Amino acid sequence: MFQMEITRKIEELKDEMVDSLKRFISINSVNPVFGGPGEKEKADWLEELLKKMGYTVERHDTKDQNGIWRSNLLAIIPGRDRSKTLWIVTHIDTVPPGDLSLWETDPFIPVVKDDRVYGRGAEDNGGSMIASIYAGKALMELDVVPEYNFGLALVADEEAGSEYGIQYLIEKGVFRPDDMFLVPDAGNKKGDFIEIAEKSILWFKVTVNGKQGHASRPKTTENALRKGAQIITELDETLHRKFSEKDELFDEPLSTFEPTRSEKTVDNVNTVPGRFVFYFDCRVLPRYDLEDVLSTVKSVLDGRGAELEVVVKQPAPDPTPADSDLVVKLSSVLKSLRNLEVRVGGIGGGTCAAFFRKKGWPAVVWSTIEETAHQPNEYRKISHMVEDAKVFALLGVER
Ligand SMILES: [Zn+2]
Repeated sequence: MFQMEITRKIEELKDEMVDSLKRFISINSVNPVFGGPGEKEKADWLEELLKKMGYTVERHDTKDQNGIWRSNLLAIIPGRDRSKTLWIVTHIDTVPPGDLSLWETDPFIPVVKDDRVYGRGAEDNGGSMIASIYAGKALMELDVVPEYNFGLALVADEEAGSEYGIQYLIEKGVFRPDDMFLVPDAGNKKGDFIEIAEKSILWFKVTVNGKQGHASRPKTTENALRKGAQIITELDETLHRKFSEKDELFDEPLSTFEPTRSEKTVDNVNTVPGRFVFYFDCRVLPRYDLEDVLSTVKSVLDGRGAELEVVVKQPAPDPTPADSDLVVKLSSVLKSLRNLEVRVGGIGGGTCAAFFRKKGWPAVVWSTIEETAHQPNEYRKISHMVEDAKVFALLGVER
């Protein structure tokens, strides 16, 4: 019964939403782990915006190991049933712009072109955050009391492990086991995919040791870069061959093993490097044990003067049940609003949802996006943001 009113109200709010997304982009909140200033300045602005709209706002800031303030915000609209909260969880931090020469515009100066807003954080995760904020604003302006408490969690540190963000909030006990969690931080162009499962994540670092020397006298050296290149190729081949099963529940049905980062070797071309460091990002189907993956890595490295270090090891939590309340509600809203038949499945993982699932709390990842996160010229479609805001608002009133 609210569908028409909510749809109309959200459309009225479109220009404000675009302005707010532009503001989101213009305040640098690159995660300090990647050399950025962190979330505080953006959180100051968001706190003011939320309070002005009428949300009840709680702020949970904490200092990280380097003494930098990391800011989290909770914003609530009380519901008819106050024993439960439907949380929409988005993150304030972003990744760095990367290679600036690949950007057509300044990553921190928002540009609106046709149906798109360009800038770092436009998709990951600004567009969804703004959509969730305005979904609540629409409910308040229409004087609609949500079915359960309508809660927004705007969190820090998602891009670097969530220690000062969602993990900090969970430890502080701000969420309750009966709550529901929607994490609009992955998705597809149609918005017909609801993520309920994820893969295990393994990041590892390998340091290859050799002997540095003049490149014209290779016999007196041991080239760590060449050794490393051979090891990378072998790891790549061995891991893909050994862990090759498919699971069609997942959007990428295979486990993935990607060499991603390497550290700088020497400054000059005529020196053979004596040390080479590289990293792998592995997303492994839950049926495999990460310990088996690690022992395979070790067997490749064995006896080759290479050291292994595990950077991140997160075994996949149990999936959110496909018949859980939130999945059912979201499917029914998408059916009535967009006439969509949704698919329910898994992705590579790595969102805030993992931490809720670990607790056994139902968490769902969903949004309508073009998948430009972490890329140069990242953008969010305005129409996607507006349509997703309608979904969030309707979820708030869905029984
Ligand atoms: Zn994200």
